[in-house]
Amino acid sequence: MSPPRSIALVGAGLAALSTCDALRAQGYDGELVLYSAEHGLPYDRPPLSKDVLLGKARRDDVLLRPEQWYDDQRVSLREGAPVRAIRPAEGGLELADGTVEAADRLVLATGGTPRPLPVPGADDPAVHLLRTWEDAERLRARLLPGARVAVVGAGLIGAETAAVACALGCLVTLIDPVAVPLAAVVGDDVAGVLHRRHTDEGIEVITAGVERVERRPHGVLVHLGGDHGPVAVDTVVVGIGIRPAIELAQAAGLVVDNGIVVSEGQRTSRPHVFAVGDVARPDGHRVRHEHWEAAQRGGEAAAYGMLGLTVPEPGASWFWSDRHGSRLEAVGTMAQAERTVLRGDPADGAFTAFGLRGDRVVAAAAIDRSRDVKVARRLVDRGVAVDAGRLADEGADLRVLLR
Ligand SMILES: Cc1cc2nc3c(=O)[nH]c(=O)nc-3n(C[C@H](O)[C@H](O)[C@H](O)COP(=O)(O)OP(=O)(O)OC[C@H]3O[C@@H](n4cnc5c(N)ncnc54)[C@H](O)[C@@H]3O)c2cc1C
Repeated sequence: MSPPRSIALVGAGLAALSTCDALRAQGYDGELVLYSAEHGLPYDRPPLSKDVLLGKARRDDVLLRPEQWYDDQRVSLREGAPVRAIRPAEGGLELADGTVEAADRLVLATGGTPRPLPVPGADDPAVHLLRTWEDAERLRARLLPGARVAVVGAGLIGAETAAVACALGCLVTLIDPVAVPLAAVVGDDVAGVLHRRHTDEGIEVITAGVERVERRPHGVLVHLGGDHGPVAVDTVVVGIGIRPAIELAQAAGLVVDNGIVVSEGQRTSRPHVFAVGDVARPDGHRVRHEHWEAAQRGGEAAAYGMLGLTVPEPGASWFWSDRHGSRLEAVGTMAQAERTVLRGDPADGAFTAFGLRGDRVVAAAAIDRSRDVKVARRLVDRGVAVDAGRLADEGADLRVLLR
């Protein structure tokens, strides 16, 4: 495969920008063009459900890269330029305005869109989704003290939004059909403590599914399944996951199955086409990692793949989430664990759950225990055998296990 002289990236989120950084770091000197459906300089998404909703961060505070970076790195940003089709066979793409652009390599970094609530009334203007800067601005204007807010979905973004709304003085109801959301991802112990925190902070938590949303003169009624009465609110926020933006890939005949399927180096099923970030699903993995670090690492891997370099081992996945003043961090895949070892007392709020398979740590989840997670990550990556008693012993230095 001849080295690329021009690379076009569709989407200008974290995954695309990380790809550009890694390409330049590895000595790629050719053309880099980012096609962005959005307007303005690309921004980071995690602050949207945290400091942006809290009113503590402005757009300039959350930019992924400063304006100067685009000049310094010779990255051409085409804002408000949605791509309508990719043309892998000819090596190029087509913009919404009909312009055709050529490139030696294509990178699909199109992310995803929030899944809408699949019930009648979900298109009411009181119902909000949260993915973009504009979504966050619209929602922030509604989170006033005393406002009645229902958050549907108690996963990562739903829980963060509920916590922020609560901190802003809203009357919050958090609705999820699962009794302990996130248990499959972080284990029962950590998920249980996290979920109970909502109630402790004054949020009403309801375990139920939403059946429909009904407009009322003042706000809406959220009708629930089971014996639950309707919840009257001013604003509904839906956080029930995303749909990967696979349309371009699908239309071009790439293999797509819960995301664009990629092999080592983020290669898709078509030569010269790569996919990174939330939209990509590594072949052989059931889930896509819709997390910040996965998007960044995917960008790095794609750069190595495009340049024909040996792709570094990805290592265990990691993510964080902030709520009610606490930080959740998780590493590895808890579903692979056969048993859990706790370090610290869940009653204290801050503790770590290590997931073990045999005598190896395969995952860990922690509340306000970054240091434990750092060590856990290296234990997972190295696959060393550990003494479970030492993991649980608060007096023992975990780093000894790495020696
Ligand atoms: C509110 C929120 C909070 C989050 N908090 C955390 C957190 O605490 N911890 C964590 O680990 N992760 C968090 N995440 C997840 C993390 O932000 C994402 O995993 C990451 O942003 C994915 O980056 P991406 O580049 O793949 O996609 P995106 O950032 O979605 O970028 C994709 C871009 O492609 C554009 N695009 C799509 N189609 C086209 C087209 N046809 N033409 C041109 N452009 C197109 C889109 O408009 C978009 O700008 C959060 C996400 C959100 C939304």
